[in-house]
Amino acid sequence: MSLFTARGEEANGSSGIDLKNAYIRLKKDQDSAKVRLLSVTDQTVGQYKAHNDYKKNIYTAPCIEPLGEECPYCVALNSGVEGWEKFYPKKRMIITFVDLETGKVKAWDASGKQGESVKKQILQYEGNKDQFPFKLVRNGEDTDTSYSLMPILSPTEQDTKNFEKAKEVEVPEDFLDSVLIPKPRKTMIANLANAGFPVEDFFSADELPEGNGGQQSSEEPVDEEPEEIGQSEIDNM
Ligand SMILES: [Zn+2]
Repeated sequence: MSLFTARGEEANGSSGIDLKNAYIRLKKDQDSAKVRLLSVTDQTVGQYKAHNDYKKNIYTAPCIEPLGEECPYCVALNSGVEGWEKFYPKKRMIITFVDLETGKVKAWDASGKQGESVKKQILQYEGNKDQFPFKLVRNGEDTDTSYSLMPILSPTEQDTKNFEKAKEVEVPEDFLDSVLIPKPRKTMIANLANAGFPVEDFFSADELPEGNGGQQSSEEPVDEEPEEIGQSEIDNM
C-alpha cells in the first residue's frame, strides 16, 4: 500500500535512500535549482495528504490513513477537543526532477497549490524538456510563496554537459514511495502530547510517551526538524 492518493496526470487536485539529500529544498525567496524536467507520470508525480500545525510545533507528516492504519493526527482532528478541529490533512504533492548539479533523481515537496502550478508548467513544457535545462525558482516567503519553471536559454558549458548526462538518468519505479516515509504512530502520539493533546484519553497506555502513563522507553520519540519531510515555512495551501 502507498500513502499516495493520486498519481501522475490524475494527481489533480523504503529503500535505504538518503532522505537528507533526496529532496530539492528551496528555502528562501529566489533560491533556485537547475533541473531536467521529467514527463508527468505515476512514477514522477504523486499527491498525498499531510497534517501540520507549526504553531503547535507539529511539522508536516503524511496522514497514514491511506495505509489502512488509524492516523493519530486524524484521531485528534475528530476528537472534539478544542483547538484541534482544524488539524485536517491537506493536499501536498511530490514532483520528481533530475537535479543537474548532482545528476541525481530528486523529489520536490510542495503544498497542493504550489505543486499543481508547477505540474501545469511541466505539462506546458513537455515538448521542450529534452531541449532545455530548466530552473525551478522560489518566489516569495511564507504564505506568499510560489514556484516557477524557467528554461535556461543560454546554458553554460557545464549546464549543457550536466543536462546531457541527466537525460540518461532513470527514475526508480518506487522512487515516490521511497521518499515519503510515514512517521511511527508512537512519534505522532508523542507530538500530540507535547502539543497539549490529552493523549491518555484516546490512545492505549503502551503507545503513550513517558510521563503520560506510558511505559518507560529509552528512545524518546522526538519530532524531526521541519526540513525533514516538508518545507519549513508555513505553506500556502
Ligand atoms: Zn490523518
